[in-house]
Amino acid sequence: LGKLGSLGKSRAKFISAEETTGVTFDDFAGQEYIKRELQEIVRILKNEEEFQNKGIYCPKGVLLHGPPGTGKTLLAKAIAGEAGVPFFAATGTDFVEMFVGVAAARVKDLFSTARSFAPSIIFIDEIDAIGSKRGGPDVGGGGAERELGLLQILTEMDGFKVSTSQVLVIGATNRLDILDPALVRKGRFDKIIRVGLPSKDGRLAILQVHARNKFFRSENEKNILLQEIAELAIDFTGAELQNILNEAGILTARKDLDYIGREELLEALKRQKGTFETGQEDSVEIPEELMLRLAYREAAVAVLACYYPHPHRPFTETDIHSVRSQPNMRYTAKSGTIFLRKSDYVNSIVRACSPRVIEEEMFGIDNMCWISAKATSKASQRAEFLILRTGMTAFGKAYYRNHIDIVPNLTIKLEALREEYMRFAVEKCSSVLREYHSAVETITDVLLEKKEIKAEEIWEIYKKSPRTPQPPVRP
Ligand code: ADP
Repeated sequence: LGKLGSLGKSRAKFISAEETTGVTFDDFAGQEYIKRELQEIVRILKNEEEFQNKGIYCPKGVLLHGPPGTGKTLLAKAIAGEAGVPFFAATGTDFVEMFVGVAAARVKDLFSTARSFAPSIIFIDEIDAIGSKRGGPDVGGGGAERELGLLQILTEMDGFKVSTSQVLVIGATNRLDILDPALVRKGRFDKIIRVGLPSKDGRLAILQVHARNKFFRSENEKNILLQEIAELAIDFTGAELQNILNEAGILTARKDLDYIGREELLEALKRQKGTFETGQEDSVEIPEELMLRLAYREAAVAVLACYYPHPHRPFTETDIHSVRSQPNMRYTAKSGTIFLRKSDYVNSIVRACSPRVIEEEMFGIDNMCWISAKATSKASQRAEFLILRTGMTAFGKAYYRNHIDIVPNLTIKLEALREEYMRFAVEKCSSVLREYHSAVETITDVLLEKKEIKAEEIWEIYKKSPRTPQPPVRP
């Protein structure tokens, strides 16, 4: 990483820095006008002085908005690559996951790092996570902290002296509608570019880009085939088109063929659409052991969902068709008047532990894999939420807000409290899973056999399976 290697550890954790992204505008296809607009910015960034003499400055912020997978990140990287400047990337949600006050500090850190490498580019993906309208509904909690983070972004952007430190901030979002109006005011993100779904010609161009490193029988056949796929892949994003080609490549290799053909492409298209049958063929997709782990994870989530039902969102079904780092269990939308007691918060921490607890139980602590990785942070975040936001625990909200400087070792006390909740949650969760081990096994078997299971059947197994009594777990 050259000189960027000097980034402090704490920074590196949430800022990803690249001295040169190596991405160029050639990597982005379709929507040529977007590239034309951005090319101008690249020229200003590159020939800073020449433009400054003419009094032309780079805009401070560019906001890219559009559906996920349409190439917003790719474009941001291409701007950095074309201008040959360092690229600092963070995600909006990274800023809001920690203790109050951390969001603003992280924003500050990000900007000061980028400034010391100016000219440079800051990329904030999912900027809506930190930059949604102030005073609006507090989706997912973390309102106050987010506001502080947002304010810090505004301060940083206002604070640039354009002539001295050229830092271009690129934000990406698929929710332009919920952004705080202050963000898009003049002198902040004043260039807003929509990155939409590609047209038919755009799709063909994107397919061409990703077919560069793939084998076809001939250039001519490739063009004909890609033309056909571009026509069929209506409403597909760039990311999905890329997937089609990758998938076709895999299918080709699996059949031990040398060239991608029409059949493989059509099959890949069908899979990407999600309309493919889930038969024997697909079990090849997910390795057997991973399938087993998935089935156990979903079974554990299901048992905990029965043991501590969510007060407002009944679960409906789960499956092992796809591998994600979070459970596949689906729930109905929130209904009724929201009425959450302290115990509901604690139960939700216990529930969140289940993927991690079952993996350790069944496969051993040294043999964990990533499908349970998010569980720990999710449970931990919920504990933090309970402690810092609800005011339902000692050292809660009021203490933290008003006495941060007065109460000695407050952070340590909060941390100890969080650990205490986590310890209880993990113990309680293992106890439930041991008590209902038979149900876990039965649900796992059903999942392995049928690949999916509905709430009704889960409840039936849960109620009928023999239980193994466990000693009580003390909070
Ligand atoms: P977003 O940030 O909008 O969610 P990404 O930039 O992460 O989307 O897109 C994911 C991947 O999909 C890219 O790395 C690229 O390989 C491919 N892709 C998306 N859009 C395009 C495009 N217009 N041209 C070429 N590739 C694209």
